[in-house]
Amino acid sequence: PFDVLVVGGGPAGASAAIYAARKGIKTGLVADRFGGQVMDTIGIENFISVKKTEGPKLVASLEEHVKDYDVDIMTGNLAVNVEQNDYFNLTLDNGATLQSKSLILATGARWRQMNVPGEQEYRGKGVAYCPHCDGPLFKGKSVAVIGGGNSGIEAAIDLAGFVNHVTVLEFDNKLRADQVLQDKAASMGNITIIKSAMTTQVLGDGNKVTGLRYTDRTTEQSHDIELAGIFVQIGLVPNSEWLRDYIELTPRGEIITDKQGNTSVPGIFAAGDVTDSPYKQIIIAMGDGANASLGAFDYLIRQVPN
Ligand code: FAD
Repeated sequence: PFDVLVVGGGPAGASAAIYAARKGIKTGLVADRFGGQVMDTIGIENFISVKKTEGPKLVASLEEHVKDYDVDIMTGNLAVNVEQNDYFNLTLDNGATLQSKSLILATGARWRQMNVPGEQEYRGKGVAYCPHCDGPLFKGKSVAVIGGGNSGIEAAIDLAGFVNHVTVLEFDNKLRADQVLQDKAASMGNITIIKSAMTTQVLGDGNKVTGLRYTDRTTEQSHDIELAGIFVQIGLVPNSEWLRDYIELTPRGEIITDKQGNTSVPGIFAAGDVTDSPYKQIIIAMGDGANASLGAFDYLIRQVPN
């Protein structure tokens, strides 16, 4: 069996694997795809000490760093189940089972998409999901935020500080964001909120976003707005469905962790975007992976050998 088996090969998983391997313990890493969300990221400008890089480039150096250590890397398969007897038994979708004395879950998350024409085509060309990451690219321009929940209104307030204008489109006839955020948004002067608006299409010129089309659900009329960017803020979905019956999750499906990365099951740790940590960023996921790995090591040295 492994001492530490990491599930996930994004920034959190890579960092957890390196920290475990550096302790000289038997370390494995299982991932559907090495790199996680970073693989889908075009420009990265907030990975501190690296002024500007690209997702696939950062993933290549992550992989190179992990491979510098004695980590058994298994990619191309999803973990689908976990059970415990003497060890944790992790089942993969190809039927294989891996045994380990501890697990670090770092399966990340995915942004919920609008699923409208143009969204995929213009992803990274005006369609964005992370205001902390891509917001500054739209300095002085007009943008839309899709979604009037807390993350949507927070994004609008954040963006309104440096873009020309923000239009928030909410599907419902009311906003779900906290009142204090709604008040703040109303006070900003360059945020327009449109309720009962169903986004139907991302408009572009073939290279980049030029606007969006929505239907006013009260009048059934279609409208176009000219803008340079669209921030989709309709939810981040943790990749934790397969753990639902086994580990304590928040109502949104995030794995509940404490400061050492412990989950509700002793010996199972979690890190990164799949957890209930409030901010989802590469640098945070990496720190979190290191943290969970040190937590796992601490757990292992307290186990009586059987
Ligand atoms: P992920 O990166 O999601 O990695 C999850 C890993 O788990 C993957 O290897 C995946 O294949 C694997 N996996 C999932 N389920 C299973 C399973 N059942 N079995 C096996 N493996 C599984 N952050 C920044 O700091 N700066 C940015 O500029 C930035 N830009 C972004 C742009 C986009 C388009 C997106 C989507 C995100 C961006 N982020 C950015 C956020 C950042 O990418 C995430 O916070 C970070 O990748 C989280 O790392 P993670 O390791 O927790 O999860």
